[in-house]
Amino acid sequence: RAKSAGGDAVSFFESDMDRRAREAIVLAADLRAGLAREQFVLHYQPQVSLRTGQVVGAEALLRWQRPGWGLLRPGEFLPLAEENGLIVPINQWVLREACAQAKRWADAGLPPVRMAVNLSPIQFRRQDVRQVVTEALEETGFDPNMLDLELTEGILMEDAEAAASVLRDLKDLGVRLSIDDFGTGYSSLSYVKNFPVDRLKIDQSFVRNLRTDPSDTAIVRAIITLGHSLNVDVLAEGVETVEQLAQLMAEGCDEIQGYYFSQPLEPDVFAGLVRRRKSLPRLG
Ligand code: C2E
Ligand code: MG
Ligand code: MG
Ligand code: MG
Repeated sequence: RAKSAGGDAVSFFESDMDRRAREAIVLAADLRAGLAREQFVLHYQPQVSLRTGQVVGAEALLRWQRPGWGLLRPGEFLPLAEENGLIVPINQWVLREACAQAKRWADAGLPPVRMAVNLSPIQFRRQDVRQVVTEALEETGFDPNMLDLELTEGILMEDAEAAASVLRDLKDLGVRLSIDDFGTGYSSLSYVKNFPVDRLKIDQSFVRNLRTDPSDTAIVRAIITLGHSLNVDVLAEGVETVEQLAQLMAEGCDEIQGYYFSQPLEPDVFAGLVRRRKSLPRLG
């Protein structure tokens, strides 16, 4: 084929496509094996209250110890797992492992922290999410009131009525619901009112330029006002600098998460930080 089309450029292009297709197949097989061989791990990023300065939660973030590749972040493998459906068993593992870890911490006498777990849109659509969450809670004995499920706006957008009924089912279990990456999707205003959510997580893209971009400042302020007028907590993601922190405090934001306080941590490091009661500095 490449020959009849003539020229090296064409055959190079085709072999490049072949190579990428081959890599995707290898990646899918490795992902499947990775799940069976327990190569996935969770790192935990602190969520900190701006009222007390203390760690009040952990977000479980998935990592893959892929042999020969080091520790991969979700951006490098989740898109494919979403495409081929492997996200469903992977995320089921995440939910269970995060609940089990949080329960171990509680049993060990660690100051209480809520555990936040990201749910995938695919999982939400294909699976009986309520059943999966119920099983994770029952098998681990973790307190449902301390579990926080993070959903993106996409989940809520697709079929609003179906989504609302799933969310009500989840709320019946006693868990908390957060909307992740808030402000990056559509029709944010109406669903905050219509869905039983407990928290908005302001997307890090708005936090990044908080001090320099007046429209980002206005958006952050509007989200905080919206949340509070509807009795919903607001957390700012991706806080990296003391200036961003100061501004978010001034705006009345409830919680923050970001490299300024801590990166996502291995479980023992996270536990150590909570045990030492590492806290935010008092500003001003
Ligand atoms: P997310 O849920 O919005 O998580 C926040 C992401 O921002 C994480 O990236 C975190 O490491 C990163 N981050 C935290 N603080 C900062 C900061 O100060 N600056 C910057 N630049 N980044 C910060 P990560 O761990 O690579 O995860 C990326 C995304 O992958 C997550 O975004 C989430 O959507 C998804 N994800 C992670 N774990 C899971 C999982 O178990 N299941 C599912 N379905 N999705 C997951
Ligand atoms: Mg999240
Ligand atoms: Mg987010
Ligand atoms: Mg994000």
